Amino acid sequence: MTTALVELRDVRKSYFSNRIETPVLHGINLAMQRGEFVAIMGQSGSGKSTLMNVLGCLDIPTSGSYALAGEDVGSLSRAALAGLRNRTIGFVFQSFNLLKRMSILDNVALPLIYAGVNRKQARERAQHQLARVGLGELARRQPNQLSGGQQQRVAIARALVADPPLILADEPTGNLDTRTSADIMAVLTELNRDRGQSIILVTHEPDIAAFARRLVRLKDGLVLYDGPAREGLRELAQEEAVNLAGSLSTATTEEQA
Ligand code: ADP
Ligand code: MG
Repeated sequence: MTTALVELRDVRKSYFSNRIETPVLHGINLAMQRGEFVAIMGQSGSGKSTLMNVLGCLDIPTSGSYALAGEDVGSLSRAALAGLRNRTIGFVFQSFNLLKRMSILDNVALPLIYAGVNRKQARERAQHQLARVGLGELARRQPNQLSGGQQQRVAIARALVADPPLILADEPTGNLDTRTSADIMAVLTELNRDRGQSIILVTHEPDIAAFARRLVRLKDGLVLYDGPAREGLRELAQEEAVNLAGSLSTATTEEQA
């Protein structure tokens, strides 16, 4: 039996402020094998980022269990958890999160430096990774000397440099134009196909989700759909058409009234 890369069982997550509980995730069950490419969709506030924070071990569930690469996250010490996260996950954020005063080469090398790799070797691997995302020639530039799309490529190179089995990307194309977004998605698709890297990607755009093979839709902190992306996106489009027709007919009735 092979262990799932990700396995969430009845995961609940609440935020607390002034002892007032705000439940956000209401019992999520989700398993993912190595090599999968999953898109997560859902309306704003449905819990996508909260789920990603749990998946990324940046936050812990209020209840339920999470096993990452076969390790029960809830039973690990802080240090062990940080180690597991560094070995297993690469993050790509909407806002790129690059360090401004460093060359992009050093930005990409950073996760390796943290992991204790010596500087020379870290730079060599970073250079190689930048070349893979098509930026080998620009290694000495600083982030502000690059376009948004190029900066996101740097962020992807940084997420990949330590070769983690799982990439978590929360709205990675949210700040990019359509053309550049397609470019970034091509890079991610290639990584998934050629290197078997697993990807979980949050997006609100069906065109972007269509790059994934599997779709998970969240609604109010619960899984509403989990299955093939193609069928899921078709369902979503139908629902939206029905909603649109509904609001149009309401508008017409109001006009007539
Ligand atoms: P999404 O990414 O789908 O838009 P989030 O996971 O960011 O949704 O948020 C889900 C809900 O949890 C929202 O109602 C949000 O206001 C609330 N929330 C998110 N983060 C916090 C927090 N740190 N403290 C309190 N409430 C939060
Ligand atoms: Mg979010």
